[in-house]
Amino acid sequence: MQVLKFGGTSVANADNINKVVAIVQQSILRDKTVVVVSALGGVTDSLLKAGALAAIADESYKDVLATIERRHIDAVKVLVPVAKQSSILSWVKQRCNEIEDICNGVFLLGELSDRTRDRIVSFGELISSQIVAARLKAAGTDAVWKDARELIITDSNHGYAAVDFAITDHNIRSYFAAAVENLFVVPGFVASSQAGLTTTLGRGGSDYTAAIFASALDAKVLEIWTDVSGMMTADPRLVPHAKVLPRISYQEAMELSHFGAKVIYPPTIQPVMSKSIPVWIKNTFDPEAHGTVIENEVVKRNGNNIRGITSINKIALLSLEGPGMVGVPGFSKRLFEALAAEQINVILITQGSSEHSICVGIDEATLVDAKAAVDKAFAWEIETGKVDPLVVEPGLSIVALVGDNMKSHPGVSGKMFGAIGRNGVNIRAIAQGSSERNISAVIAAVDVKKAINVLHEEFFETTYKQVNLFIAGAGNVGSKLLSQLQQQHAWLQEQLRLQIRIIGIANSRKMVFNDEGVNLRNWKQELEAGQPMDLDKFVEITRSKNLRNSVFADVTANDNVAQTYDRLLEKSISVVACNKVACSSSYAYYKKLKDLAREYNASFQFETNVGAGLPVIGTLNDLLRSGDTVNRIEAVLSGTLNFVFNNYNGEKSFAEVVKQAQEEGYTEPDPRLDLGGTDVMRKIMILARESGEQLEMEDITNSTFMPASCMQGSVEDFYAEMAKQETHFKALYDEAVKAGKKLKFVAKYENGKAAVGLQHIDPQHDFYHLYGKDNVVLFYTNRYVEQPLVVKGAGAGAEVTASGVFADIIRAAH
Ligand code: ADP
Ligand code: ASP
Ligand code: MG
Repeated sequence: MQVLKFGGTSVANADNINKVVAIVQQSILRDKTVVVVSALGGVTDSLLKAGALAAIADESYKDVLATIERRHIDAVKVLVPVAKQSSILSWVKQRCNEIEDICNGVFLLGELSDRTRDRIVSFGELISSQIVAARLKAAGTDAVWKDARELIITDSNHGYAAVDFAITDHNIRSYFAAAVENLFVVPGFVASSQAGLTTTLGRGGSDYTAAIFASALDAKVLEIWTDVSGMMTADPRLVPHAKVLPRISYQEAMELSHFGAKVIYPPTIQPVMSKSIPVWIKNTFDPEAHGTVIENEVVKRNGNNIRGITSINKIALLSLEGPGMVGVPGFSKRLFEALAAEQINVILITQGSSEHSICVGIDEATLVDAKAAVDKAFAWEIETGKVDPLVVEPGLSIVALVGDNMKSHPGVSGKMFGAIGRNGVNIRAIAQGSSERNISAVIAAVDVKKAINVLHEEFFETTYKQVNLFIAGAGNVGSKLLSQLQQQHAWLQEQLRLQIRIIGIANSRKMVFNDEGVNLRNWKQELEAGQPMDLDKFVEITRSKNLRNSVFADVTANDNVAQTYDRLLEKSISVVACNKVACSSSYAYYKKLKDLAREYNASFQFETNVGAGLPVIGTLNDLLRSGDTVNRIEAVLSGTLNFVFNNYNGEKSFAEVVKQAQEEGYTEPDPRLDLGGTDVMRKIMILARESGEQLEMEDITNSTFMPASCMQGSVEDFYAEMAKQETHFKALYDEAVKAGKKLKFVAKYENGKAAVGLQHIDPQHDFYHLYGKDNVVLFYTNRYVEQPLVVKGAGAGAEVTASGVFADIIRAAH
């Protein structure tokens, strides 16, 4: 004997039912078979909805019922040849009329009892199983339809009835002992009470029906046919990369299903486990796939002691607290008794070691009853101030790690909480089952998808880590960054095990989001087709997507974008900025961002703020982290100014050389920031701040070489005025040449003071041989006293800046 159960999706419509029939026809070649059938997918919910609407005198229940009827009739018309349709069609119609009669009664009474609800909802399975049986017969396969209500006997707990196994097993055995046929079709989910009334076995209960038959009949195997290829490492709707577990133990399956793996209804395991009947989870839509076998033997696996990650939604946390609880026995007992008396199921328990609080997780739907029951039970203690009124917190979920071997592996919980914490998910409560087969954490419902994916990555995806990137700015640097990301895609995945997905891109006009990742080959078109840019909206969407390993890259030079970093960091979204505005605005904001990054475990990277792609800030941080002290910094930090002074010799006008620097992409979008020295001030200030100095822009001395008249008006005015001032620039140049020196715009920081200005550099100096747009930074520290630590190289340009941003993104990802 074998038992095959087909779920709601497997019988959702005529096409699918044909697949089921094909599977059954193959199976009966092997053995006598019982086929257990769920209601057509979605029908159980619709029936419950119709009943609920009728009970509140909402006539739309009739529309719901009409849709249900149409679905069944349509299926019959496709599945059964016209000549044989009439009897099954009229049978289905009669059942639909019965449902309507009951609902009409509910409508008139304005009341829906649990008992009536069971009657209504039972029609889903009753009708679907008849249709499957009719199709089998029409396809030439004899099948006997048997009403499970005649065999499975339960108590009268409608909606969640408990099976009387002594009677049920006896009924099933005697029925099958007498039956001579080979194939039986049975409605799942439904049963009857001793009083002969229809009961149901709980949502998802068709699995249980199948297990009850398998166990009573000592079946060789129980097959659960569904819409996924087995029990997976996580719910595939939440984690697209979840993997099928080829084999697991009964205990693990039980734990996974108890903690939310819906693919199997939790009570299903017990009856088959006691008989050691193997359970196969198979995919109706991919029958060749191996599936999962659930069996006794605990299988050795390669090093991973976690089997799956699950979640339960709609959880509320109850906290009972009070000074009167310390050292007084019996509080927990009374709490649980109060809940049990209201039939409230406790899903998770934690107690602080202080004993001064107990925390339990329950189904959110039972919250009001729970609060009333507990406050009543402790009325006296509450009145006398020994205990506080019960604190309730809805809107939560449980995520759990499940695996047989966890007990022998410490550190699993550390890894779990570390990974969740790094992604800014707050844990409200923690529990470890005494079996040590699970560790569960209570978190906000909105964080579930993120937490499950983070954990999946941490425990299963040895292949790669996914980074979700949001880019503000698609100009010079931004487009270079995007093309580098495209070129390096395969390398990143192979060498660094990183998969970077661009979830959002914005420029000043447009923004676009794509959860699958913007296609890097045609991001320009995708962006053009996007919605109008709205910075607040861009940031809000970035926040609310709540994706793990989120990184926001600011490749603009925009003040407003810089003002959004705090809102990102406080959501644990890392920020990578080549925009210097944030780090060079007030010290208070700079400090706030640094603190937020630490507090929310996010990364705040801005290496390209100084020296473009050169490792200047990284080197400085390495020195400080290793215990060194910075005494003095001397630097040429403007690629633009270095380019200008290296190329200006009076042949071309100064204004023309500046223009050339702008055209080659070395200047800030507003070149006056470079020429006036502001950009260099910002950079030396950032280095001073990173060295621990609380410096503001006003504290920096700037001996500018630019005539004040050049700095007024627009960028065009600036170029025009510079042309007029050519003699001024020529004089600066000639003076330096006459003294045998070169002109460099130098920044200096020492003893808490910073200054920037144009200097004559003599040929012995480190700065003399500094060509093109290069930068150089000299760090004088306790370790580098006489000879400074020198960082030198290209300090401007879109390509090197983009690669610096790229490196920061990788740093943030790690
Ligand atoms: P059926 O109607 O066949 O009984 P269910 O919808 O009850 O099917 O269960 C199958 C669904 O369970 C899958 O579609 C999947 O989305 C969900 N599921 C949740 N967790 C898991 C898991 N760990 N492995 C496989 N499926 C899971
Ligand atoms: N049809 C019932 C439900 O949706 C039982 C089942 O499908 O297992 O809950
Ligand atoms: Mg199910």
